Amino acid sequence: MRTVVFLIVLAVVWQLVFRAPLAGPIYEETAKEKIAIIGAGAGGSSSAYYLQRYSNHSYDITVFEKNFYIGGRSTTINVHDDPRWPVEVGASVFVKVNFNLAAAAREFGLNVQSYDVGKVRGKDGLAIEELFGIWDGMKFVFTASSESSWKSTIKLLYKYGTAPLRAHLLAEKASASFLAFYSQDDFPFVNLTEISRSRDLTNITSETTFDYCTGHGLSARYVNDIVQAATIVNYAQNVKQIHALGGFVCLAVDEALEIEGGNWQIFEKMLQKSGATVRLGTSVSEIDTSTKSSGKWKISIADSDKVEEFDQVIIAAPYYQTGIGGVPLRIKDASYMTLYVTLFTSTKRLSSTYFGLKPGVPVPTMICTTLADDDLAGSHTRPWFNSISIIRYIPERKEYVYKIFSPSRISPEFLQLIFDKGAEFNWVYEKIWNAYPRLDPISDFSDWKVDNDGIWYLNSIEQFISTMETSSLAGANVAALIVGANNKTVVSVP
Ligand SMILES: Cc1cc2nc3c(=O)[nH]c(=O)nc-3n(C[C@H](O)[C@H](O)[C@H](O)COP(=O)(O)OP(=O)(O)OC[C@H]3O[C@@H](n4cnc5c(N)ncnc54)[C@H](O)[C@@H]3O)c2cc1C
Repeated sequence: MRTVVFLIVLAVVWQLVFRAPLAGPIYEETAKEKIAIIGAGAGGSSSAYYLQRYSNHSYDITVFEKNFYIGGRSTTINVHDDPRWPVEVGASVFVKVNFNLAAAAREFGLNVQSYDVGKVRGKDGLAIEELFGIWDGMKFVFTASSESSWKSTIKLLYKYGTAPLRAHLLAEKASASFLAFYSQDDFPFVNLTEISRSRDLTNITSETTFDYCTGHGLSARYVNDIVQAATIVNYAQNVKQIHALGGFVCLAVDEALEIEGGNWQIFEKMLQKSGATVRLGTSVSEIDTSTKSSGKWKISIADSDKVEEFDQVIIAAPYYQTGIGGVPLRIKDASYMTLYVTLFTSTKRLSSTYFGLKPGVPVPTMICTTLADDDLAGSHTRPWFNSISIIRYIPERKEYVYKIFSPSRISPEFLQLIFDKGAEFNWVYEKIWNAYPRLDPISDFSDWKVDNDGIWYLNSIEQFISTMETSSLAGANVAALIVGANNKTVVSVP
């Protein structure tokens, strides 16, 4: 009897472990189509998430990520290496109409909070008035206080007439055209160039912000002071370079939001939900065409002999920065802006004297920059930064956390210059990004499909608009095209 029981147990274990049926025909699971995604930022994570959502998990997805973290340009650093104080190093905010991000945050139960730095400070118990100022290198051309927004609005209207209202209307109109991309009529779109034309956005992307705005009746003074401060802080470009759609994105930051603890969590959760295999610290070095005729792509990993085969490949990173060789692809080159992000702490506030204010007058907590009248667009004749802001206060240490965006390294001497004598900088962190593409006027974008046999590219969307949301939308869009479903309910966004 004991022998019989033993044999039954053995048979069950055998079945469970080796999945071999005890009797009857052997059923083989149909092999799932294998998809490689290169990059685990907003775009790559969204591709994985939407591919599985649209197909009810019918793909075998591998995500290759050369960093040891998920999120790409959406990432945090802990001040003083303390997990209680994470701050964003890259993409900091999104807005309510960023439907994909907002929906994902809801689905994953992440805490969305208003990016109202004043509120953070309130919670931290710091009672300082929040001031916003636009600095032209010599003087503040505009200041406002967030505590009395109606006063600031009156000030703005007094100085610039109806230009702020008109700019708001133009930005709203552009935003409405863009939001149609999410509609059942437009999504998924086969081609960014065509949809941009059909939604009347090409006329906005093909002119500089300065030309478009002044052509629509906005005063040059308003565009140079206010719009330019927004384009410099958001895209490190001035109004005579950046296309008008990029300019309007910079103006549309009402009700800015962030995920408590870091926006990257959205992308981590998307990848978890997709069930994709995520290979961190794994850089793809080559996509080999030699097996293309068999409908497979060989992917090589840097510093390894490992070669793996996939049916389709999604490149979810700025292509000319990936170092991927092997296959000529129909991808237009794009040059990216070098941006230095310097984070540091100090118990002191910025020097009133350096900023031309009377001693004791508080320096704005958020300083954007614009160009002085004698500066040519794109050239700065004096030590320059794009923005300086206090992003947090740490009551336990009585320290402000500052963030500087600049086109070149912030030297210790420069820090000493903008603070009064004796200021100490207890924690300093620097990150150099290839931050976003130069948003020169443009009317033609690379296709999603950059090789007809299954290589897709997401980051051409960055020359249209470079944000977490647009990368996510590109990921969802390519996922929908790959799934090829005609059922619009299945492939809707968000
Ligand atoms: C300082 C800064 C501030 C910003 N502020 C905002 C903001 O407030 N709001 C906003 O919406 N956007 C902001 N952006 C823009 C936003 O970060 C990007 O548009 C968006 O994150 C791009 O996502 P992505 O997935 O397309 O690319 P990425 O985030 O760059 O992801 C690409 C990934 O691919 C990986 N990779 C590259 N090559 C390889 C390879 N060969 N093999 C494997 N992996 C590879 C990279 O390591 C990276 O993780 C900001 C960007 C910067 C730099």
